[in-house]
Amino acid sequence: MTVRVRIAPSPTGNLHIGTARTAVFNWLYAHRHGGQFILRIEDTDTERSKTEYTQNILDGLKWLGLNWDEGPFAQSDRLELYRQGIQKLLDSKLAYRCYTSSAELDELRATQEARGAAPRYDNRHRNLTPEQEAEFVAAGRQPVIRFMIDDQREISWIDAVRGKVSWQGSDLGGDMVIARAAQDGANHDVGQPLYNLAVVIDDIDMQITQVIRGEDHIANTAKQILLYEGLGAAIPEFSHTPLILSPAGKKLSKRDGVTSIWDFKDMGYVAGALTNYMTLLGWSAPDAQEIFSLDEAAKQFSFDRVNKAGAKFDWDKLNWVNSQYLHKMTPEELLPELIPFWEAAGYQVDAAADRPWLLRLAALIGPSLETLKGGFEERTGLTTQGGVEISRTFFTANPTLGAEAIAQLGQEGVKDILTSLQTALAELAEIDEDGAKGLLDRVTKEQGVKKGVVMRSLRAALTGEVHGPDLIQSLILLHQHHLAIPRLQAALAT
Ligand code: GLU
Repeated sequence: MTVRVRIAPSPTGNLHIGTARTAVFNWLYAHRHGGQFILRIEDTDTERSKTEYTQNILDGLKWLGLNWDEGPFAQSDRLELYRQGIQKLLDSKLAYRCYTSSAELDELRATQEARGAAPRYDNRHRNLTPEQEAEFVAAGRQPVIRFMIDDQREISWIDAVRGKVSWQGSDLGGDMVIARAAQDGANHDVGQPLYNLAVVIDDIDMQITQVIRGEDHIANTAKQILLYEGLGAAIPEFSHTPLILSPAGKKLSKRDGVTSIWDFKDMGYVAGALTNYMTLLGWSAPDAQEIFSLDEAAKQFSFDRVNKAGAKFDWDKLNWVNSQYLHKMTPEELLPELIPFWEAAGYQVDAAADRPWLLRLAALIGPSLETLKGGFEERTGLTTQGGVEISRTFFTANPTLGAEAIAQLGQEGVKDILTSLQTALAELAEIDEDGAKGLLDRVTKEQGVKKGVVMRSLRAALTGEVHGPDLIQSLILLHQHHLAIPRLQAALAT
């Protein structure tokens, strides 16, 4: 049997990290088994669903490289199919029309609350006589459709992640609503089909073999199994993946500052690193490898190695994974990723005319990057080494001198070294690696000092810092943009 899995996001917000991680697991499973990965947009909640969120989700999955084989299918295009399913359940007397009004339901809930009991529907309209029904209809009540749930039933399944899971029918809140009341004037006697019913009908129709989704859907699974049985369909295998928790071990929420995958993109994480990290949120490779492409992970992916416990989000780990990706990228790959961050920071970037210079800069900073942006991030409380931060000195006219640089420049003999460097540099219109190295050697000899002193002084004057990326390359870049000599002059004037 061909494996068929799906990701079924509700377009009620931008692509969430939890949904993206579920998509990763589905993608890996499909690719592991040569199966199909289907995309379904669950937009039956017409009040909260928005087309811009659908677009956001599609864009996000594409950015992450989570390409799908079929779809996107929208539930809003499939209402007729759900109505047929509802009719089938009505015909087989497994579902019925319930006329209980909202006021009556409120009253029921209030009495249950007063008793300290959990709210549940008391199935009062399960066995209405035709006369009773006629009375409700005559009174103008619009029914919802409820599917019968046997309180005595124990519902169990073997979950690929959690092993045997059991639910008691009595814990499911009474007979469940599968369709809302029809609106006045609608040309159907059945209203909007509800979530659990639509999911099951779709999963049957799309021949889904494995339902892989977050653990927050476990209670739905118990209800859905009853619907599969009611509709006479085969029940797929279920895999409920652990939730992503905040670093403090709580459910990841808006307060953690990161909800959508675009937050990660904005902070300077690259797509490959993010999918790699999401794969590690709950799964580990048999050989303990931690850096892999989706294709490589798919070769080894199985649910035996998915944890039951929630997966704590670990920023240090994500930063490490991201840095592994950034360090491996060629300057040609890195440059287009860096440019939007530089531009957003207000740096003047002439991507076409200045390409060789920009590639040299990308090559210089690449090995030190943790993120494309860097600096302090309020949403994570962390500081990372990033492309905007590290390259600031190459785009600003005058760097501010740090305390250590000021101390270095104030040392005895340093002004002479800088003057000598300035004179030597002024003779070089073009500068390459050999030229830059020769220049340092010459000044070292001329001044009769240690080379380290020349290098520290030059770095302090050029960048305002005493640590940073390769000095020779930094000098070349700054001299090519006519920034080196003015900086030496500025340092001499301090
Ligand atoms: N639409 C549901 C959600 O966004 C997913 C349902 C499912 O995977 O069965 O959480």
